[in-house]
Amino acid sequence: MVERFSYSSLETYKKCPSQFRFRYIDKVVKPDEGIEAFMGKRVHEALEYLYDEILEGRLTFIDGVIEKYHQVWEENWHDRIAIVRKENTVKYYYELGERCIALFYRTYRPFDQPVVGTEVEFVFSVDGTKDYMMKGIADRIDHDGKGNYEIHDYKSGKRMMSQRDADKDSQLATYQIGLQDKYDGVEEVKLVWHYLQHAQEVHSQRNSNQINQLVRQIKLRIDEIREHIQNGDSFYPKESILCNWCYYWEECPKKDMPNPYM
Ligand code: SF4
Repeated sequence: MVERFSYSSLETYKKCPSQFRFRYIDKVVKPDEGIEAFMGKRVHEALEYLYDEILEGRLTFIDGVIEKYHQVWEENWHDRIAIVRKENTVKYYYELGERCIALFYRTYRPFDQPVVGTEVEFVFSVDGTKDYMMKGIADRIDHDGKGNYEIHDYKSGKRMMSQRDADKDSQLATYQIGLQDKYDGVEEVKLVWHYLQHAQEVHSQRNSNQINQLVRQIKLRIDEIREHIQNGDSFYPKESILCNWCYYWEECPKKDMPNPYM
């Protein structure tokens, strides 16, 4: 039984119900990961280190942040990291992460943003009951001390989200539900995506009607998943281009060999 959902688990269900089953119900753990995700995690850790130091009253020079990136890259590297885009090399991704950090550092120095936390975890109910519990981790939360909050998300991928897509995106809007549950006196919440390869931000906001609509959508999806589990229904495999990044080819009824990209 799945007690607690997350934005990622609900998205996985939407993209491929079978993958959801393998990951969140059968809890099949795979050591594999794509190099883009691996690099993104290391960049997140380096930026987390930068702001955690600032919260402690210390400003780390850019060399220190890059050094942290090198350190976490080496500490976490393993032999099940896949490069799906064969035209790129490990060196390419390693240097791309360095460039993302350097660009971010140059853009935001002297780091006077009102950051109150990095990797902030929310565990919350979307409707105030224990039936619809969610969890999520925001990359960064800023707060001006007057009830105006910002939820920041770092993206290390190349493709930027359009304003139209940002206004419809439900990841940070889901975190907004968690933020409003966690903190008192929330006046306004801004959603901010950082496209690190381009040093560009995309902003959006949600009003209370949009948040209520999102709550209804989340509850409907959770109900649907629970109904499938209770009825013993199969979670059907939904093939798409995303199969290339899926680690469950050995379990998937639509595939008859291990994922060749892994
Ligand atoms: S390989 Fe494709 S269809 Fe099969 S579980 Fe993964 S995403 Fe779903």
